[in-house]
Amino acid sequence: MNLPTFMLCTNEGSDIGRAGTMGTTPVLDAKETVMNSKGAGSLCCYCGGPVMVATCAVELRFCFIPVSHKVKTKFYCIICSTRFVPA
Ligand SMILES: [Zn+2]
Repeated sequence: MNLPTFMLCTNEGSDIGRAGTMGTTPVLDAKETVMNSKGAGSLCCYCGGPVMVATCAVELRFCFIPVSHKVKTKFYCIICSTRFVPA
């Protein structure tokens, strides 16, 4: 996997996280499990902290029934927790 040298800064959270905070009824539940994380070799453009790349398993449950399971890669600063998307 080639790691991107440049990162675009974004304050955008994950869609799943946003859906979870918007609803008041806890029927839809997203669970993220970090499977693997390592340094992305980039620096945060806000605080200059190291950016980590994490492989996460995301499980979406509706009324405790798993409806979606996928693996995604996330980039984030370990100092200020800013999320990044590869340029
Ligand atoms: Zn940062």
